[in-house]
Amino acid sequence: MSPSAKRRPFIAGNWKLFKTAAETVQYIRALKKLMKKGPEVDVALAPPFTALESAVKAASGSTIAIAAQNVFWEEEGAFTGEIAPGMLKALSVGLAIVGHSERRQYFGETDQTVNRRIKAALAAGLDAIVCIGETLEEREGKKTKRVLSSQISKGLAGLTREDGLRLTIAYEPVWAIGTGKTATPDMAQDAHQYIRRQLEKIFDKKVANSVRIQYGGSVKPDNAAELMAQPDIDGALVGGASLKPDVFFKIINFKGA
Ligand code: PEP
Repeated sequence: MSPSAKRRPFIAGNWKLFKTAAETVQYIRALKKLMKKGPEVDVALAPPFTALESAVKAASGSTIAIAAQNVFWEEEGAFTGEIAPGMLKALSVGLAIVGHSERRQYFGETDQTVNRRIKAALAAGLDAIVCIGETLEEREGKKTKRVLSSQISKGLAGLTREDGLRLTIAYEPVWAIGTGKTATPDMAQDAHQYIRRQLEKIFDKKVANSVRIQYGGSVKPDNAAELMAQPDIDGALVGGASLKPDVFFKIINFKGA
């Protein structure tokens, strides 16, 4: 694919366990003002569940999409602490992050539970950002591609090509998340190209060429442009640097429009 035929960039901010509903509204008002010039990228924000309703209202009339940071696979039942796909849809949330490494690391998420969450999200009409990535130990043990291939084949098992078209993949090397260490553009491109090849094996060339693959791991205003210039990097999933609207806007506006 030639660079000119690249997919439209998609940049999402993952706020993790930060911001109340009131802080969310303040942030979105500020970001909306900054985005008036309308950079040519798709933008999403993933606040905590408690701020989703306020976020959807604050973002109305803008192009900012609101995402959940997780979603459960059942619609209702005795599942204390979980949030159902239909509950998100009822708030007009259209997107959910699934399989973030912090969920895998601290909350026992596996490729199998990721798979169930993706299927339930898609069935309910939510799109999904699916996070994958290797740990430092796996990279140093030269297992990166094996890990990515396994996360993709197990996490996306049983999905149709129509399902595939509704996914975004976030490649987030675990050693780069919140550490200030970023994969070099070449390192990230190599992983993204490999992921795209795996998508082609599971789905087909058309799906593989359409799916946006975000890079995540200490993305900042000063490294966003060189990462995004890589042919298979179609955007970013941003944690720490998405918490301030002016800093996040610099990333969204990486082309300096
Ligand atoms: C993330 O949480 O997905 C992430 C990439 O975090 P950070 O940008 O802070 O490394």
